[in-house]
Amino acid sequence: MIVHFEPASEEGIATVVRAMAADKASLAVIGGNTRSGLGNPVRADRVLSTRRLSGIVSYKPAEMTITALSGTPLREIEDALGENRQMLAFEPMDHRPIFASSGEPTIGGVFAANVSGPRRYVSGAARDSLLGVRFVNGGGEAIKAGGRVMKNVTGLDLVKLLAGSHGTLGILTEVTFRILPLPPASETIVVSGLNDAEAAAVMAEAMAQTVEVCGAAHLPESVRGRFLDGGLPDGAATVLRLEGLEASVAIRAEKLMKAVGRFGAVTRLDASQTSTLWTEIRDVKPYADGSKKPLWRVSVAPSLGHQLVAALRLQTGVDAFYDWQGGLVWLRMEADPEAELVRRYIKVLGGGHASLVRAEDAYRASIPSFEPQPVAVAQLSERVRAKFDPHRIFNPGRMAAVS
Ligand SMILES: Cc1cc2nc3c(=O)[nH]c(=O)nc-3n(C[C@H](O)[C@H](O)[C@H](O)COP(=O)(O)OP(=O)(O)OC[C@H]3O[C@@H](n4cnc5c(N)ncnc54)[C@H](O)[C@@H]3O)c2cc1C
Repeated sequence: MIVHFEPASEEGIATVVRAMAADKASLAVIGGNTRSGLGNPVRADRVLSTRRLSGIVSYKPAEMTITALSGTPLREIEDALGENRQMLAFEPMDHRPIFASSGEPTIGGVFAANVSGPRRYVSGAARDSLLGVRFVNGGGEAIKAGGRVMKNVTGLDLVKLLAGSHGTLGILTEVTFRILPLPPASETIVVSGLNDAEAAAVMAEAMAQTVEVCGAAHLPESVRGRFLDGGLPDGAATVLRLEGLEASVAIRAEKLMKAVGRFGAVTRLDASQTSTLWTEIRDVKPYADGSKKPLWRVSVAPSLGHQLVAALRLQTGVDAFYDWQGGLVWLRMEADPEAELVRRYIKVLGGGHASLVRAEDAYRASIPSFEPQPVAVAQLSERVRAKFDPHRIFNPGRMAAVS
């Protein structure tokens, strides 16, 4: 990809955007370019990277907030937080393994795509941590929304709107977000040998306990061997994560094992295995196989994920595993994405959200990546887009068909 512009300041970005408006030209916006496979393919005249807009602006560990320029590498932020035993609450997925992309993910890219991992179902998505943003709109104006502390609610909705807009409303230049202390201890309880329906029941049981499970995933036998280098016990693995102070984790682990022990054989993973396993779940390791086999990320009610997979299996070749207590289903199709089938079954089950995360280019060009919106919502989205980006400069086609 040829990068045409790499401004090192917000004003530099605004100048480029104004030039694009004057030329009636469009702009693909990238950070580290590690996730440009997400969403519909973009057709733009020029490419702008935020890579040079980099650096932590302000970080006061005691206040539990951090402000960074949008092109700051995620690694730099995580290193700074780690030095103070702090972390991001939302565990952002690294998309490089499944896309076989290279480069450094940026913090702006994380918020632009609302990238959130296994802890999301208890701690919220990336957008829930975001307190404030600066961005350049399609008129080439620099705008500030939100503030540095939660009590300042001015513009908060604008902040939420920008998170997950995939660069279609503006170019993020600065983000301020809250952070959490790093838990001193962690452990994973593994229940072995359950089928998908039994696992859904066990995960529901675990969540109902007062032990604060902060990761609940089910790894069927078809994928189990691809985690921890095959180090999980034989049979499907239903994995439940606990974090906190050491003594507290030990007590809660005993309680949890008592509650789930009657469903199957139980083993425990230490902190190091826990860290590796949940990173592998986060990054969808089983399907990071160098292929472009179609990959769906489906979000439904936790009790329904396994029913969706069972229904699809009667019709087509599909492999799957579950995060978020069964409510996030990673579906890998054998050949065709079967978009119509996947979306129809989700509707039949009561609704949800299916994103086509990866597929061959021909499929990506013809299947909408995001869940199609009802007409009224689509019209509202279009009006919002027209307000932020009246000249249709940013990432044309990424989220909706170009009109
Ligand atoms: C714990 C939990 C329980 C849930 N239970 C249910 C349930 O019972 N029933 C149910 O129907 N759903 C349920 N959902 C799904 C939820 O309502 C949304 O469908 C889901 O949050 C949207 O996908 P996401 O949050 O995974 O992705 P997000 O990260 O929010 O969105 C993915 C990307 O798609 C974009 N996007 C989102 N919506 C649209 C859209 N309409 N058009 C274009 N782009 C869009 C976002 O901007 C973002 O870039 C549940 C979700 C969770 C986390």
